[in-house]
Amino acid sequence: MTTTSRTNTCDRCDRKTEHTVRIEVRTESQKEENIKFSREPYRVSTCSECGTKQVQRMNNA
Ligand SMILES: [Zn+2]
Repeated sequence: MTTTSRTNTCDRCDRKTEHTVRIEVRTESQKEENIKFSREPYRVSTCSECGTKQVQRMNNA
């Protein structure tokens, strides 16, 4: 698993903070609502200040 560190804007801190970023590919859905997101790569970035996670899909097309 690749983990990188980068500076992102945190909505909760309302400023730029250091984030831990890792890529996840979810191969199984946890809820019915997530089925459309299954098997797609996500970028999960966690604020090192407040711990808030921001999840973004990699392919925004
Ligand atoms: Zn934060």
